[in-house]
Amino acid sequence: MLKHLLVAASLSLAVCSPALAQGVSPAPAAKSPQASPKAKNVILFLADAGGVPSVNAASLLGYGEPLKLHIQTWPNLGLSETSPVDLFVSDSANGMSSIMTGVKTRNGVISQSPAAVRGKVDGAPTKTLLEYAEQRGLRTGVVTSEPITDATPGATYAHSNDREKWGEIFPQAFAPRFGDGVDVMFGAGRRKIGEQLTARGSGFDQLAKAHDRPIYARLEEASPTNARPVVVADQIDVRAAALRALDLLQSSPKGYLLVIEWDAHTDDPRKGLQNIVDLDKLIAEIEGRVDLKDTLLLFTADHSFGLQVDGGRRGEPVLEGYDAWKAAGKDEDVVRLKNVMVNRSHTGEEVVALATGAGAERVRGYFPNTHLFQIMMDAWGWKPDAVN
Ligand SMILES: [Zn+2]
Repeated sequence: MLKHLLVAASLSLAVCSPALAQGVSPAPAAKSPQASPKAKNVILFLADAGGVPSVNAASLLGYGEPLKLHIQTWPNLGLSETSPVDLFVSDSANGMSSIMTGVKTRNGVISQSPAAVRGKVDGAPTKTLLEYAEQRGLRTGVVTSEPITDATPGATYAHSNDREKWGEIFPQAFAPRFGDGVDVMFGAGRRKIGEQLTARGSGFDQLAKAHDRPIYARLEEASPTNARPVVVADQIDVRAAALRALDLLQSSPKGYLLVIEWDAHTDDPRKGLQNIVDLDKLIAEIEGRVDLKDTLLLFTADHSFGLQVDGGRRGEPVLEGYDAWKAAGKDEDVVRLKNVMVNRSHTGEEVVALATGAGAERVRGYFPNTHLFQIMMDAWGWKPDAVN
């Protein structure tokens, strides 16, 4: 694992100094990291499967023109390479684990070293950014449109050799390795998580009682006086949940980490692209509520997806023919609309990382997704533990 850390570190150095590599003096703006303003807070926005082509198409869907998303106005951009240690194409488990821990692993594995064998053998737990933040007394929050135990949110707070083990993943939020664990958890998946807990002889009620922490079934049920609410709902209003989480975390004297995931798989192209448009609006709203002098906002994806805009003209809906496709109810590997083709699969090309605020200037060039972990650690001025 140390070897992987070293590889990641040397890769980071390489991408951090493209000018040096070419024998050119660095620009004056690129001073030593110590000279940069430190972030107190970090908000990571994760469009799950929201690759470059989907970001482009979301602007076309939402606004009829390219480059109309709010995030497309952000000053700093890089391309983040998402593969696991052994394959070309990543799933959410490896993708998010790499971002959260700085260590690439295997598909299906949640924040464990690549020594893990999915479903069979544990790897060493790799310490997550959320755990670093908890250890340092920051407040932390995870908000997702998906089940709170899904691979992407799971990789922020849990360690497991298999992303499917929800009954094992969820209770880890209540038995943290650092600090008091995730302070604010808003996600979906109530029925299936409940079933998996029951299969292990546990349940929402037992967990809540054992840890003196209610697990609400709806966002509206969470008591306004509860500073550390957990909501596991059937469905989550991501905007309402994210703004509420932000309200709660912003009272933290030492700062906070907030991770907001919104699904952007385009198996259903309109659903996935509309989610990106809605996430982008939420990001603009949140940007208006934070101080960019002490807060880093970072947008990225855990892996890309096989959507392409391959035709159409301005003024025409990008998803021309969608309604007919939807009505036909076909479940095929490839969706062929007039202007858009979707190969309904994760894909291997780099995803965009966009940033603004404190520490955003480090987001540039091509880099492995593990570099995003380093960027967020650097923004706070933190060094990773020698052995993860
Ligand atoms: Zn994913």
